[in-house]
Amino acid sequence: MQKAVLIQLTLGLIRYLVLGIGVFFLFWIWGKKRFLHRKIQKPDFNVKQAKTEVLQSLRTVLIFGVIAGISYWGYEKGYLQIYQDISLHSTGYWWFTVLAMVLIQDTYFYWTHRFLHLPGVYERFHLAHHTSYNPSPLAIYSFHPVEAFINGAIVPCVAFLMPLHFGAIATFILISTIFNSIGHLGYEVYGRRFIKSGLYRWVIGATHHNIHHKYSKENYGFYFRFWDKLMSSESVDYEKNLLEKENLAFIGKSKVIVDTGA
Ligand SMILES: [Zn+2]
Ligand SMILES: [Zn+2]
Repeated sequence: MQKAVLIQLTLGLIRYLVLGIGVFFLFWIWGKKRFLHRKIQKPDFNVKQAKTEVLQSLRTVLIFGVIAGISYWGYEKGYLQIYQDISLHSTGYWWFTVLAMVLIQDTYFYWTHRFLHLPGVYERFHLAHHTSYNPSPLAIYSFHPVEAFINGAIVPCVAFLMPLHFGAIATFILISTIFNSIGHLGYEVYGRRFIKSGLYRWVIGATHHNIHHKYSKENYGFYFRFWDKLMSSESVDYEKNLLEKENLAFIGKSKVIVDTGA
């Protein structure tokens, strides 16, 4: 069990150092002027907020370690279906489980997030995350301990339902953290090609989650816009905000007018 906890603590810390602190330095410090045209909100770096985000994120890394310990116990007792021998299932199944975890987490996150926004629950367990009015990647794990447990419980929940390989779990957590980092980036990264492909209609980007932090009442999704569209919980100005940012990105660089597909 100690080995599982230590591995999770190490990987959690590496993920935070690279996709939290590393990406923060890349965009907010090194790229401050380079990416100015992609900045979503005006308020700039706030040392007090940054300290809170880092401390709360490190606490979450510890909590993810505890969840790894509990999961290992569940695995040893036979409650959780985690396998180490990759030949037990096909490569196709391995990738299917990664995709399944992404899709299950998308639904899981949307509804637990709606729950965390209920009056009474929000103030106690979710306000810690929303103290970041204009979030940076330092906030990717900036949660109240209860919210950290809710978010971290996704892997044992899926492992209860279907066999998961250790590598598939690690790949899924990496994909999830990359999306988390993009969501809290504070800069819109989607470019003209992405907009023209129409993928922006389904995949959530930095502007989407930034609006959630700004107003605390819309855009609850994580990977995809599906649930927000279905439940009418998406900002009506989201696409306008996103496309305006894209137009700004190309001013002075080319005369290309963004095809919104409208
Ligand atoms: Zn957030
Ligand atoms: Zn929220």
